[in-house]
Amino acid sequence: MITKCYKIDTNNINQEQMQEAGALIAAGELVAFPTETVYGLGGDALHPEAAKKIYAAKGRPSDNPLIIHIAEVSDLERVAKVVPEQAKKLAEAFWPGPLTMVVWKKESVPYATTGGLDTVAVRMPNHPIALELIRKSGKLIAAPSANTSGRPSPTEGSHVVEDLDGRIAMVLDGGPVGIGIESTIIDLTEETPMVLRPGYITPEMLAEVLGEEVIIDPGIIAADDTTKPKAPGMKYKHYAPKADMIIVDGDKEKVVEQISLLLQEAKAKGQKAAVIATEETKMLYQSDVVLSIGTREEEDSIARHMYKILRDCDKLDVDVIYSESFKTPRIGQAIMNRLLKAAGHQVIHV
Ligand code: AMP
Ligand code: MG
Repeated sequence: MITKCYKIDTNNINQEQMQEAGALIAAGELVAFPTETVYGLGGDALHPEAAKKIYAAKGRPSDNPLIIHIAEVSDLERVAKVVPEQAKKLAEAFWPGPLTMVVWKKESVPYATTGGLDTVAVRMPNHPIALELIRKSGKLIAAPSANTSGRPSPTEGSHVVEDLDGRIAMVLDGGPVGIGIESTIIDLTEETPMVLRPGYITPEMLAEVLGEEVIIDPGIIAADDTTKPKAPGMKYKHYAPKADMIIVDGDKEKVVEQISLLLQEAKAKGQKAAVIATEETKMLYQSDVVLSIGTREEEDSIARHMYKILRDCDKLDVDVIYSESFKTPRIGQAIMNRLLKAAGHQVIHV
C-alpha cells in the first residue's frame, strides 16, 4: 500500500485534504493524525474490521483496547451504556483535552475495539486537525498511538512515517505535538475513580473537580510485575529504544558522578554510550552523545521531547543509554512511568 502524506497547517486547515482523509476513515481505512498528546492511528471505532487493521498495522496485541476519539461531548452517549455524573463533571473541566475516561460500553461498540472488555475508553482530543478529521469522517475514531507496538510513541509526523509507511492509507502531518505524552486515563467503573495511566492531568486535578478521592492503580506504581495494571496496555514493554537503557536516580552531583563513571566503563568496553541530560547538566558530561531532553525549569519541555530523544538514540545507533531521572513536581509521575518502561525498570539509586 502507498501511504499518502499531507502536511497540514493547523492555522489554515486544507479542507479538501481533510475531506479525503475523512472519506478514508468512513471507508474503513486507517489515517494517522496529530493530537495534543501524541500522534494517533485512526480507524472507524464502530467497525470491527477497522479495529483489526489497526492492530495489524501496529503489530499490537489484540487484547490491548483502543481509545475512542470523539469531537462532541454529547457523543459520549453513543458509546457509554450510561454516562456517569463524574464523566459529565470531568468533560466540562477537561474536554477537549488530554483525559481519557473508561466507562461501561454500549452493545454497539465492538469487542474488537475494546479488546474484549465490557468497558470502553473515550477521549475528546484538543487539536483542530484531530477534531476536523472526526467531523469530516462522520464517525467516531478509535486510535492508539501511531507507532509500531513497543516503540516510543510518535510526537512528529516523520516518526509515524518511520514506523508505518506502506502499512496505512494516510498520514496527516501537523508538525510536532504540544504535550508529548499520552493522555491520563481515569476509570469510572470502579467504586472509587482510579487513574490507570498517569498523564498531563494529575490525580489532584481530577480529585479537585470530582470533589472525591481519586486513587492510582497499584499496578502502575509497583516496580515489579507482582501487581498487574488494570489497563491492559500498561503491562507490555513499551516506549523502548533499541539500546540498553539505565536510569540513574538521586541528587544531581551524585547522578553526574555515577553517569560519568558508567561512561568511562562503557568506553573501556568499546561501547557507544548516550547520556540523556537536561539544559542544566548537559555540559557536565564527557561523551560524544549528550542529549538534552529539556529544562528542569519547565517540566513540560521534558515531556514534550522524551519520545523524540528515545528515537534519536536509535538513529545514533548507541549501545547503551544512561539517563538522569526526572521526578519533576507536577507531571514527574507521568514522565517517570514512561521512562521506567523504556528502561525496562533498570535503575541505579545513588
Ligand atoms: P494508546 O492508545 O497507545 O495510548 O493505548 C491506550 C491505552 O488505553 C492502553 O494502555 C489500553 O490498555 C488503555 N485502555 C483502552 N481501553 C481501556 C479500557 N476499556 N479499560 C482499561 N484500559 C483501557
Ligand atoms: Mg501506545
